Amino acid sequence: FTGKTGSELLTEKLKKFKVGDFQSVPIVVDENVSAYDAIINMFLEDVGTIFVTDQHSKLVGLLSRKDLLRASIGNQDLSSVPVHIIMTRMPNIAYCSADDLLLDAAQTLIERQIDGLPVVEEKEDGVEVVGRLTKTNIAKALVELGRDEHV
Ligand code: ADP
Repeated sequence: FTGKTGSELLTEKLKKFKVGDFQSVPIVVDENVSAYDAIINMFLEDVGTIFVTDQHSKLVGLLSRKDLLRASIGNQDLSSVPVHIIMTRMPNIAYCSADDLLLDAAQTLIERQIDGLPVVEEKEDGVEVVGRLTKTNIAKALVELGRDEHV
């Protein structure tokens, strides 16, 4: 018997959750694809955030649903607008790594008021996208924690 209360054990477990244990597959497009194609991709892949990379596969930006909606409001022909024109760009992208604590990533989502983070590996010449962490992943972690009978 450890002498720990149920909630102490829960907290301990929550603090051990890593981003890498809950992340999803990232959806990535090249910076030169059109806003139109990005919208098609967003529907086909059923994601809310698309990551944008350059020709060296390094992260240069991202697109949310509202970024694409905003671009659609104007009169521009979306198939002739490259996504790098409308994306949120580096260095203003909040990201995390697979080793980060899930709690820290969740706090970033709250502080920045965003739905998701790219999970990246930092290289000398930029960052490479290896995953996607969204509010849904956080919800899954919460459910796992709450339903785990061994806690
Ligand atoms: P939506 O725009 O669909 O509500 P978000 O709340 O995630 O989705 O995005 C709000 C704004 O923040 C968008 O302009 C988006 O480009 C930007 N954004 C989303 N995720 C990030 C991130 N990880 N880092 C920086 N900016 C982000």
